[in-house]
Amino acid sequence: MNTNLLLQNLRNIPDFPKPGIQFKDVSTLFKNPECNREMLEELVRVYRDKGITKVVGIESRGFVMGAMLAAALGAGFVLCRKPGKLPGTTLKASYAKEYGLDSIEIHTDAISADDVVLIHDDLLATGGSMKAAYDLVNMFHPKEIFVDFIIELRMEGLQGREALGADKNIHTLLTLHE
Ligand code: AMP
Repeated sequence: MNTNLLLQNLRNIPDFPKPGIQFKDVSTLFKNPECNREMLEELVRVYRDKGITKVVGIESRGFVMGAMLAAALGAGFVLCRKPGKLPGTTLKASYAKEYGLDSIEIHTDAISADDVVLIHDDLLATGGSMKAAYDLVNMFHPKEIFVDFIIELRMEGLQGREALGADKNIHTLLTLHE
């Protein structure tokens, strides 16, 4: 994978959405077809032999590469959304994030016990949102759960990987220290 290409195209926005946050803006990756191809080829290489049947994307930036990857793997795509957005019956989990409190929901019929699930989001910070998504997916008792991010932020006060737990199968394309 061409890591430099991705790093050169990732935009950092200081103090968004509040002072002190270095916001890693993946929209500048997604608008570049070469970056999309680099990311997708690497993710397909990592996951093509894992038997993934469902990719779960976390709203909203997790939908973009999550849906591309689901199509490339021949898997279904499931939306994990903010409260009140999904029209059917849902399960809900709440969590604290780097800049506030939030909840996510998933449809009760989204996953079955014979699925192998990959949960995807753009970025790992505290791990709160992925932990909530993982707990939701785990309620369906799928055969296996994989966890994937485009970016892992490793900065003081952010120990997302540890918060998710050493037993989780976690993959990230980029690790950033600032
Ligand atoms: P967390 O739950 O703390 O791991 O936060 C991860 C979620 O919040 C992801 O959905 C990210 O899109 C978003 N997020 C948190 N911190 C940042 C950041 N510094 N830059 C970009 N997105 C972030």
